Amino acid sequence: MKVAIQGARGSFSEAAAARVWTDVELVPCREAAHVVAAVRDGTADAGILPVENSIVGSVTATWDVMLEAFEGRAMRLTEEVLLPVRHALLAPKGAEAGKLRRVLSHPVALGQCRRWLAAHAPAAELVAEWDTAGSAEIVAQLGDPAVAAIAPAAAAGALDVLADGIQDDPSNQTRFLAFSRDGAITDGPRKTSLVLRLDHRPGMLAAALQAFAARGVNLTSLQSRPEPAAPWTYRFYVDVEGDPAVPPLLEALESVEALAARAVVLGCYRAATPGAAPAPRLSRPEIPLHDRRRFPAGTVVRVGSVEIGGPAPILIAGPCSVESEEMIQRTATAVAAAGARMLRGGAFKPRTSPYDFQGFGAKGLRWLAEAGRRAGLPVVTEVMGWEDVPLVARHADMLQVGARNMQNFALLRALGRCGRPVLLKRGAGATVEEWLMAAEYVLSSGNPDVVLCERGIRTFERATRHTLDLNAVVLALQRTHLPVLVDPSHAAGLRALVPALAMAGLAAGAHGVIVEVHPDPDRALSDGAQSLDLEAFERLARRTREAG
Ligand code: PEP
Ligand code: MN
Repeated sequence: MKVAIQGARGSFSEAAAARVWTDVELVPCREAAHVVAAVRDGTADAGILPVENSIVGSVTATWDVMLEAFEGRAMRLTEEVLLPVRHALLAPKGAEAGKLRRVLSHPVALGQCRRWLAAHAPAAELVAEWDTAGSAEIVAQLGDPAVAAIAPAAAAGALDVLADGIQDDPSNQTRFLAFSRDGAITDGPRKTSLVLRLDHRPGMLAAALQAFAARGVNLTSLQSRPEPAAPWTYRFYVDVEGDPAVPPLLEALESVEALAARAVVLGCYRAATPGAAPAPRLSRPEIPLHDRRRFPAGTVVRVGSVEIGGPAPILIAGPCSVESEEMIQRTATAVAAAGARMLRGGAFKPRTSPYDFQGFGAKGLRWLAEAGRRAGLPVVTEVMGWEDVPLVARHADMLQVGARNMQNFALLRALGRCGRPVLLKRGAGATVEEWLMAAEYVLSSGNPDVVLCERGIRTFERATRHTLDLNAVVLALQRTHLPVLVDPSHAAGLRALVPALAMAGLAAGAHGVIVEVHPDPDRALSDGAQSLDLEAFERLARRTREAG
């Protein structure tokens, strides 16, 4: 096996090659472009090049050379190698670090030892050479005790090792990519490298990255490089986990290729670290995942230490919107003392009018999470768009899908991967079947922790905001193993109706109640008319305990 490397014998590239192939006959080359050329013209069977270092970052020249070489598919990437890199200071006999005038090495190696050199060889000029082991050869030929090289200790030959392990961080590693003309990949986890050029418009990079994010494809590296022929525009080198021939990366790449001005897959290769398992193909199960026949005893969903779906009905309480730090703190303390087990509060508010208060967004999330933490209550809050799922999941214990979003399938799919339980409200115009199939989206996307919530449907009746559909509560309890809650606040729209509807929901078999509570409902920024004040909530909580 003839393998082209950049550098001399004894270099880190040789060590990297030894990790991929046995019985290697080296073809040492001075530059990355020569390594690629040697493989393309058949001088070597395969090549290996350093692409990134954990201290100094990308070896940008290599990526640019690879783009040119791999675009035509004359050869293919095959394997990634992560090589621990330990540097030594090598010099002729009699040399002392403090007296060195010049230190030679590959610029990447000099960069990895900058702090050590500043402390121990402060007078030395750092001289960039083509290779680490190659620098050791030059130093040996010069024989001048004022000139040293940084290279692997194994490349010392007749030189002295003045110091070993001089890299600035002990975890120093270099990432190599191997390639060959036939491109055969051995079994194992896969990674894929690609290059994107995007139109110079707002949101294009975000949209490209979202194509991966929406399908749960993990990005492992992203770099931008200037486009030499068009100053101040950029190309993006992207590494992702997965194989472009297999979902989910297959589907993500279809989107990215349709979106980008240019998209070139440099190759797919065996990853050095555990990569992503391909997503199992979604096939229709014999019995739907939400169906009660799967778990006749019912499912208990755990939110922190709270169990929803067990024998004890739970109360979730809090304001429609988080309005300030003090207000949510005060409400949390009061509802916790009254017997609520979870705190609710909206930070992203779906409002009918775009001119109404829209919620405090990320700031509101932080206030809510802190109030819940201090009161010892897990928190639930609405997420309105799939792009906000990671943000909301970072701060909330449970993510709410609002009635208006019940059939936002992109959001439901994203919640399948959010790692948090989901509270799925029923759409005001959705049938029970549509509601259960919305839950099926979350379940089939990988999240088993779904709680349903009946919050009133639209009927001909205008005297109340909506109509609490207890038929649907009983029916859902018969048809699904998932827990079911009622939200009497949004159903009624009037606080005077809320306690009776809450009790009715529990009598129908609901596993709990979620109600809006505000310290000063008449001054609430949203849904004040349906919000209980703190005393009314305390009375409701007592009533539910007495009934249970
Ligand atoms: C809410 O919980 O404040 C809310 C907006 O609910 P729904 O989506 O049920 O209207
Ligand atoms: Mn509300």
